[in-house]
Amino acid sequence: MTEQARDRSPEGPPVAGRDYPRTWVEFARRFPDDTACASYVERLRWPGGFVCPACGAKGEPWRQSRGRLTCSTCRHQTTATAGTIFEKTRTPLSVWFAGAWHVTTAKNGLSAMTLASTLGVNYRVAWSMLHRYRVAMVRAERQPLAGTVEVDESLVGGEEHGGKRGRGVEQAIVVIAVEIKDPKGFGRVRMRHVPDATANSLVPFVCDVVASGALVHTDGWGGYNPLANRGYRHERTIFSASPDPAHVAMPGVHRVASLLKRWILGTHQGSVDPAHLQSYLEEFTFRFNRRNSRSRGLVFYRLIQQAVHTGPIQEAEVTHGYRWSDHHNR
Ligand SMILES: [Zn+2]
Repeated sequence: MTEQARDRSPEGPPVAGRDYPRTWVEFARRFPDDTACASYVERLRWPGGFVCPACGAKGEPWRQSRGRLTCSTCRHQTTATAGTIFEKTRTPLSVWFAGAWHVTTAKNGLSAMTLASTLGVNYRVAWSMLHRYRVAMVRAERQPLAGTVEVDESLVGGEEHGGKRGRGVEQAIVVIAVEIKDPKGFGRVRMRHVPDATANSLVPFVCDVVASGALVHTDGWGGYNPLANRGYRHERTIFSASPDPAHVAMPGVHRVASLLKRWILGTHQGSVDPAHLQSYLEEFTFRFNRRNSRSRGLVFYRLIQQAVHTGPIQEAEVTHGYRWSDHHNR
């Protein structure tokens, strides 16, 4: 495989050029100040050159102070960051970029606390930045899972009782889908925090994230029964006696769930507010699906690329939890 081909993520189009830093030193040289970051944002937003968001005219804008771009046709004023997750931020763009670099290059990511001390910003700023980036991360995961996909629920937070899997409500229920490779290994994952394990919660998740025609492997839980009528080949494996069916029957889901729990316990000290759980799941998914990426710089590039194509996120959503349900079924 050529180097070029390897750099092609299964998510998203091939990278135009190879214009991203490979190392911290390259990063620091490439993005010394806010102006360098803004021009990178501008090129990612308008790869074919500036297009006026008001009138649609193409052509070099007039450039004014503080990064203002004025359309030479209709005189509409904008900036490279208007309409992106960076809009109206009081945090300098260079700090946002450094945050994206650390989030994508740290093997397990970082907590808001660690990010705050790394960037020299307060906790609230780091928290807000992480949450906005997590919303951008989900945009990078649009290609549906395909082939053979295991689906099962896992309980996150709180204790598991004697290895017996409950369908209870005291812990958060996370439904996990994992591509299973032949002859071995796992592909990409998707996850959703669901209110319960009924068909009304499980089936829409599968329909949103798994390509029709895929072979979906579940246990015997009735909540998955409608899948056969939704264009999937549905293989059910029913275990009655085994004390830990997930371990034996769903190796992909079991493995991913244990990595997820370890990440929440390690990086985030086990404390995840259920209102924000989906955001954490999106970050875990983004990183897991790029675990074999040759270049961390490419992962950084993907995050910034999605960030400039993700609309502004309200402060209330950062505080109280992003309304993910509005964004599912896109
Ligand atoms: Zn215009």
